Amino acid sequence: MKSDIQCLISAGPTREWIDPVRFISNPSSGKMGYALAQSARKLGMEVILVSGPVNLNAPEGVRRIMVETAEEMNDVMLSQFRNSQLTIMSAAVCDHRPRTTLMHKLKKYLQLPYLELVPNPDILENLGKIKKRSQILVGFAAETENHLVNAKAKIQKKNLDWIAVNDVSRRGLGFQSDFNTITMLSKDDNKVILDQNTKFFLADKIIEIVSA
Ligand code: C5P
Repeated sequence: MKSDIQCLISAGPTREWIDPVRFISNPSSGKMGYALAQSARKLGMEVILVSGPVNLNAPEGVRRIMVETAEEMNDVMLSQFRNSQLTIMSAAVCDHRPRTTLMHKLKKYLQLPYLELVPNPDILENLGKIKKRSQILVGFAAETENHLVNAKAKIQKKNLDWIAVNDVSRRGLGFQSDFNTITMLSKDDNKVILDQNTKFFLADKIIEIVSA
């Protein structure tokens, strides 16, 4: 049992509000992150799951903190990171948010809306900047082309120990699906290919690999 290990996992999408009834988001279901939280808990780790809005119940024994926006997720991840030996960012964070969120619903007959976007914090990069040697930091990369080259660059840029790469151009896998295929790459150039399987099966393997 690894009960002395605290594991911090982010999951699901973020929502970036345009007005009280509209937001920018993406189709992330949170299934991969929730499966990772369950796998880590099964091994006896103390698990904190920081989750965007999803339709899933928290796995048993896991402490869940719900957030909506990337900025909220950034704040919670930064506040929990110091005590975490293993941190996995599997959330599909929106890269941009509207510069302002309107107080009232945008009226369609007033004028054509012009949406000005500003960049969101890169949470994983922020964590990589303050990471200590004793901490393991794992990112995800959802790529549609040049998967491994792009993922390797991300390991460097975000100071990661491992990155889990999935090919989101393959139909029926990744976003929303119960299945995935993953290639794990490490900063030391280790490569582990995890063939198509359920997210639960892959989660067990990923936790095994990154906590070895
Ligand atoms: O650079 P890219 O968005 O492809 O990197 C994906 C990884 O970075 C994922 O682990 C994701 O959770 C994380 N990420 C983040 N903050 C963002 C965008 C992505 O932490 N604003």
